[in-house]
Amino acid sequence: MATGITHDRIALASLPAGWLLSDAVFHASVVFSLALMLGLWLGGLYLSPDLDTPSRPYFRWGLLRFCWKPYQWMVRHRSNLSHGWILAPFIRLLYAGCCFILLVKGLFSFSLPYEYLKLESTCIAFVSNHGPLILSFILGIWLSHLLHVTSDHLSSRLKRICFKA
Ligand SMILES: [Zn+2]
Repeated sequence: MATGITHDRIALASLPAGWLLSDAVFHASVVFSLALMLGLWLGGLYLSPDLDTPSRPYFRWGLLRFCWKPYQWMVRHRSNLSHGWILAPFIRLLYAGCCFILLVKGLFSFSLPYEYLKLESTCIAFVSNHGPLILSFILGIWLSHLLHVTSDHLSSRLKRICFKA
Protein backbone atom coordinates (compact mmCIF):
# COMPACT_ATOMS: atom_id res chain seq x y z
CA MET A 1 0.00 0.00 0.00
CA ALA A 2 1.39 3.39 -0.98
CA THR A 3 1.67 6.08 1.70
CA GLY A 4 -0.67 9.05 1.96
CA ILE A 5 2.03 11.45 0.78
CA THR A 6 2.68 9.29 -2.28
CA HIS A 7 -1.03 9.28 -3.11
CA ASP A 8 -1.14 13.08 -2.74
CA ARG A 9 1.86 13.47 -5.05
CA ILE A 10 0.30 11.16 -7.63
CA ALA A 11 -2.97 13.10 -7.42
CA LEU A 12 -1.20 16.43 -7.97
CA ALA A 13 1.00 15.02 -10.75
CA SER A 14 -2.11 13.69 -12.49
CA LEU A 15 -3.43 17.24 -13.03
CA PRO A 16 -1.09 18.26 -15.88
CA ALA A 17 -1.33 14.71 -17.27
CA GLY A 18 -5.12 15.00 -17.21
CA TRP A 19 -4.93 18.34 -18.98
CA LEU A 20 -2.68 16.89 -21.69
CA LEU A 21 -4.93 13.86 -22.11
CA SER A 22 -8.04 15.99 -22.34
CA ASP A 23 -6.62 18.74 -24.53
CA ALA A 24 -4.08 17.03 -26.78
CA VAL A 25 -5.62 13.55 -27.13
CA PHE A 26 -9.36 14.20 -26.96
CA HIS A 27 -9.27 17.85 -28.11
CA ALA A 28 -11.75 18.74 -25.40
CA SER A 29 -12.63 22.36 -24.71
CA VAL A 30 -11.02 24.27 -21.86
CA VAL A 31 -14.18 23.94 -19.77
CA PHE A 32 -14.25 20.14 -20.14
CA SER A 33 -10.53 19.91 -19.38
CA LEU A 34 -11.05 21.99 -16.25
CA ALA A 35 -13.97 19.76 -15.19
CA LEU A 36 -11.76 16.69 -15.68
CA MET A 37 -8.95 18.28 -13.65
CA LEU A 38 -11.39 19.30 -10.91
CA GLY A 39 -12.51 15.66 -10.75
CA LEU A 40 -8.89 14.46 -10.60
CA TRP A 41 -8.08 16.94 -7.83
CA LEU A 42 -11.20 16.32 -5.76
CA GLY A 43 -11.05 12.57 -6.32
CA GLY A 44 -7.37 12.36 -5.40
CA LEU A 45 -7.30 14.62 -2.38
CA TYR A 46 -10.85 14.60 -0.96
CA LEU A 47 -12.76 11.57 -2.28
CA SER A 48 -9.89 9.12 -2.02
CA PRO A 49 -10.45 5.38 -1.50
CA ASP A 50 -8.60 5.77 1.81
CA LEU A 51 -11.59 7.57 3.33
CA ASP A 52 -12.38 4.10 4.70
CA THR A 53 -9.75 4.76 7.39
CA PRO A 54 -8.48 7.81 9.35
CA SER A 55 -6.20 9.04 6.55
CA ARG A 56 -4.95 12.32 5.09
CA PRO A 57 -8.05 12.75 2.87
CA TYR A 58 -10.28 12.03 5.88
CA PHE A 59 -8.59 14.75 8.00
CA ARG A 60 -8.64 17.13 5.04
CA TRP A 61 -12.43 17.36 5.49
CA GLY A 62 -11.83 19.31 8.72
CA LEU A 63 -14.98 19.80 10.78
CA LEU A 64 -17.01 17.89 8.21
CA ARG A 65 -14.98 14.71 8.61
CA PHE A 66 -17.65 13.35 10.96
CA CYS A 67 -19.68 12.72 7.79
CA TRP A 68 -17.23 9.95 6.84
CA LYS A 69 -17.48 8.07 10.16
CA PRO A 70 -20.59 6.06 9.14
CA TYR A 71 -18.82 5.25 5.85
CA GLN A 72 -15.82 3.95 7.82
CA TRP A 73 -18.10 1.85 10.01
CA MET A 74 -19.79 0.31 6.96
CA VAL A 75 -16.80 -0.13 4.65
CA ARG A 76 -13.84 -2.30 5.64
CA HIS A 77 -10.40 -0.82 4.81
CA ARG A 78 -9.28 -1.74 1.28
CA SER A 79 -12.43 -3.74 0.62
CA ASN A 80 -14.08 -3.81 -2.80
CA LEU A 81 -16.52 -1.14 -1.64
CA SER A 82 -13.68 1.37 -1.24
CA HIS A 83 -10.85 0.01 -3.42
CA GLY A 84 -12.75 -1.94 -6.10
CA TRP A 85 -11.97 -0.97 -9.68
CA ILE A 86 -15.38 0.10 -11.01
CA LEU A 87 -18.13 0.83 -8.48
CA ALA A 88 -16.15 2.09 -5.46
CA PRO A 89 -15.70 5.74 -6.61
CA PHE A 90 -19.39 5.95 -7.53
CA ILE A 91 -20.38 4.62 -4.09
CA ARG A 92 -18.20 7.32 -2.46
CA LEU A 93 -19.57 10.02 -4.75
CA LEU A 94 -23.14 8.96 -3.99
CA TYR A 95 -22.37 8.89 -0.27
CA ALA A 96 -20.79 12.37 -0.40
CA GLY A 97 -23.75 13.67 -2.41
CA CYS A 98 -26.22 12.31 0.15
CA CYS A 99 -24.20 13.87 3.00
CA PHE A 100 -24.13 17.20 1.15
CA ILE A 101 -27.89 17.14 0.56
CA LEU A 102 -28.58 16.21 4.21
CA LEU A 103 -26.29 18.97 5.49
CA VAL A 104 -27.70 21.65 3.21
CA LYS A 105 -31.26 20.52 3.84
CA GLY A 106 -30.58 20.49 7.58
CA LEU A 107 -29.10 23.99 7.48
CA PHE A 108 -31.60 25.68 5.20
CA SER A 109 -34.90 23.86 5.12
CA PHE A 110 -36.06 24.85 8.60
CA SER A 111 -34.71 28.39 8.83
CA LEU A 112 -34.78 29.46 5.18
CA PRO A 113 -37.16 27.09 3.34
CA TYR A 114 -37.63 29.40 0.33
CA GLU A 115 -33.85 29.77 -0.19
CA TYR A 116 -33.47 26.00 0.12
CA LEU A 117 -36.06 25.39 -2.60
CA LYS A 118 -34.37 28.00 -4.82
CA LEU A 119 -30.98 26.34 -4.29
CA GLU A 120 -32.45 22.90 -4.97
CA SER A 121 -34.05 23.97 -8.25
CA THR A 122 -30.83 25.75 -9.30
CA CYS A 123 -28.81 22.57 -8.63
CA ILE A 124 -31.29 20.38 -10.52
CA ALA A 125 -31.27 22.80 -13.47
CA PHE A 126 -27.46 22.86 -13.50
CA VAL A 127 -27.20 19.06 -13.47
CA SER A 128 -29.82 18.61 -16.20
CA ASN A 129 -28.30 21.33 -18.44
CA HIS A 130 -24.65 20.34 -18.06
CA GLY A 131 -24.68 16.54 -18.38
CA PRO A 132 -21.48 16.18 -20.49
CA LEU A 133 -19.59 18.56 -18.21
CA ILE A 134 -20.61 16.55 -15.15
CA LEU A 135 -19.59 13.34 -16.94
CA SER A 136 -16.15 14.85 -17.54
CA PHE A 137 -15.92 15.69 -13.82
CA ILE A 138 -17.00 12.16 -12.85
CA LEU A 139 -14.46 10.73 -15.31
CA GLY A 140 -11.78 12.71 -13.46
CA ILE A 141 -12.90 11.25 -10.14
CA TRP A 142 -12.87 7.73 -11.59
CA LEU A 143 -9.40 8.21 -13.14
CA SER A 144 -8.03 9.47 -9.81
CA HIS A 145 -9.53 6.37 -8.18
CA LEU A 146 -7.81 4.13 -10.76
CA LEU A 147 -4.48 5.86 -10.08
CA HIS A 148 -4.88 5.34 -6.34
CA VAL A 149 -5.84 1.65 -6.59
CA THR A 150 -3.11 0.94 -9.16
CA SER A 151 -0.45 2.57 -6.97
CA ASP A 152 -1.72 0.57 -3.95
CA HIS A 153 -1.42 -2.69 -5.92
CA LEU A 154 2.00 -1.84 -7.36
CA SER A 155 3.32 -0.79 -3.96
CA SER A 156 2.03 -3.98 -2.27
CA ARG A 157 3.53 -6.14 -5.03
CA LEU A 158 6.85 -4.32 -4.81
CA LYS A 159 6.97 -4.78 -1.02
CA ARG A 160 6.25 -8.52 -1.41
CA ILE A 161 9.06 -8.87 -3.96
CA CYS A 162 11.51 -6.91 -1.76
CA PHE A 163 10.70 -8.88 1.39
CA LYS A 164 11.01 -12.23 -0.44
CA ALA A 165 14.47 -11.37 -1.76
ZN1 LIG B 1 -5.66 2.95 -0.64
